[in-house]
Amino acid sequence: MSLGALLRNIWAFVRPYKWLVVLTLSLTLVGSLTAQVNAWVLRYAVDQIAALLEAHKGLAEGMHILLIITVILIGKELVSAVIQYGQKLYGEKLRIFVSRDLAQAVIEKVMTYRLAFFTTSGNQSGKLQTRIDRGIESLSKLVQSFFIDILPLFASSIVALVMMFQANFWVGLVGLCIVPVYFWASTSQANKLKGTRRNIKDLREVKSQGILSIFDSITVIKSFTSEELEARKQLGLQLDLTEAQMKTRRINFLFDGLKSFIEQFGVVVIIILTAYLVLTGQMTIGAIMFHILLFNNVTAPIRQLHRIYDQMNDALIYSESFFDTLNADREIEPSGDYKPVKVNGHFSIRDVYFTYPDNAEPTLFDIKMEICPGKITALVGLSGAGKSTLINLLDKFYVPDKGEILLDGVSLNDYDTDTLRDNIGLVLQKNHIFSGTVLENIRYGNPDATLAQVEDAARKAYLHEQILSLPDGYDTSAMRLSGGQQQKIAIARMFLKNPPIVFLDEPTASLDAISTEQIKASLDAIKQNRTVVIISHSISQIIDSDMIYVMQKGRIVEHGTHDELHHIAGGTYRSIFDAMARSLNIDKITKSLND
Ligand code: ATP
Repeated sequence: MSLGALLRNIWAFVRPYKWLVVLTLSLTLVGSLTAQVNAWVLRYAVDQIAALLEAHKGLAEGMHILLIITVILIGKELVSAVIQYGQKLYGEKLRIFVSRDLAQAVIEKVMTYRLAFFTTSGNQSGKLQTRIDRGIESLSKLVQSFFIDILPLFASSIVALVMMFQANFWVGLVGLCIVPVYFWASTSQANKLKGTRRNIKDLREVKSQGILSIFDSITVIKSFTSEELEARKQLGLQLDLTEAQMKTRRINFLFDGLKSFIEQFGVVVIIILTAYLVLTGQMTIGAIMFHILLFNNVTAPIRQLHRIYDQMNDALIYSESFFDTLNADREIEPSGDYKPVKVNGHFSIRDVYFTYPDNAEPTLFDIKMEICPGKITALVGLSGAGKSTLINLLDKFYVPDKGEILLDGVSLNDYDTDTLRDNIGLVLQKNHIFSGTVLENIRYGNPDATLAQVEDAARKAYLHEQILSLPDGYDTSAMRLSGGQQQKIAIARMFLKNPPIVFLDEPTASLDAISTEQIKASLDAIKQNRTVVIISHSISQIIDSDMIYVMQKGRIVEHGTHDELHHIAGGTYRSIFDAMARSLNIDKITKSLND
């Protein structure tokens, strides 16, 4: 990203606070003028005292000089203190406000992106998080540097240079010649660091993702005792990062030394030149200190130049991916404007093909299906057949490559996405529980629900009694619940939402036998006048379905009722069903039940 583009992007966030910028800049400019006072005072004091000494006069005659410099210096420090307070406070305020707005804007925007954005490998959660965090950090620093520091920095430097020229042309010229050399050293330093910085940014993203996935899979890591293996993987990254960080330090220290030498060289030249001018009677002795202090005022702000240049480069690197994330409008979830008053729930899937964004090959091929309201439709197939993917398409999480999905005769593309999802209840194999209480988690299904409605939903999900036995009842942290109880929360959420369409993706997978039976009864109770699509590896749930679609390697290979499908000799359904039955050891179960 070019600097111009970066500033254009960031200006949108600075504009609401432009008065803060003006105020801080004005204060800083006044501050840069007061910074020159010391040089004046020192020259005045040295010259006046030297003249008194020459005239063999003492303290009594010099008292007024001390009084004048005391008043001026203390007055100046008081003004500086007030200016610095205002400058720092308003500067920080601007930085904090912009950083807050950037964070809020990116999170609001990213949530509007389609699911495909989050499932591409470049946008894994750890990478995304680092990109956003670092982007905000470097951008807000840049705002501070660019809008608050740069102008006063140059102003202070220019004022000091003008004063040097005014006092003596040749000394001013020395000061002026040193500036571009210093400038060159600063920009070369920053340019040399560019590639390494980008490298560090990428490594940081990968590292964060690595740490996140360690925490996510800590149980698996421990059970396989692969702590050392995982630590070694992290060590590899750490070593690469260390190498890149050390490289930046080496370059920095080398150039810092060079810049310090350039500066000190300037001081030496100024001392020699001013001493010569004093000795040849062209200057008073006070001018030596005067020029050295002014020269310091010229180089001190320029010394900061490298920091600002660094921040600018950082911001250029991090902001590129930050603004790519913030402005990825092509990723915004597509939505039509069809908002029916009532959804019946009749899906027609016509010749649908679908490929995941990161994949080369399609996951679904030529899918044709009718899903009828008031009926239970089961999707059966081996792992990886594409059942969950099909549900993802029905929920409009992804859009087919080819073909069409109609709901009540209208293409899903034409539906307002929020309206569509308000009419769908989704219970997954593993449902997300938010940090918060049981009550808050169930209420996620309907934020306006009363406590009585929440309790009713929990009762239907056979969870109410269990919640009451928890130490804080509905106010207990939901994170403390078992996997099965968390699953019931998801089912309770669905009852609370009360949608006409329900997708169940192995909803009882993590429930115990008793709960499974209870939930099955509840699910049976709500199937009236709803469209239910269920993915399950449980025989009982499949047998009860009105229509079964059998999937194999992304295709629908058979469909019909249980009886119809089981009669197809050598059929896929039959082989899956028989394998399920055998795995249950039915003979022994029957024998036990009969005993
Ligand atoms: P299971 O019964 O194990 O849940 P499934 O029939 O529901 O399996 P899907 O989850 O739909 O199968 O997966 C179908 C195929 O799509 C698999 O090969 C899987 O690897 C692939 N797949 C699933 N999600 C993604 C994704 N986000 N990106 C790329 N490929 C994916």
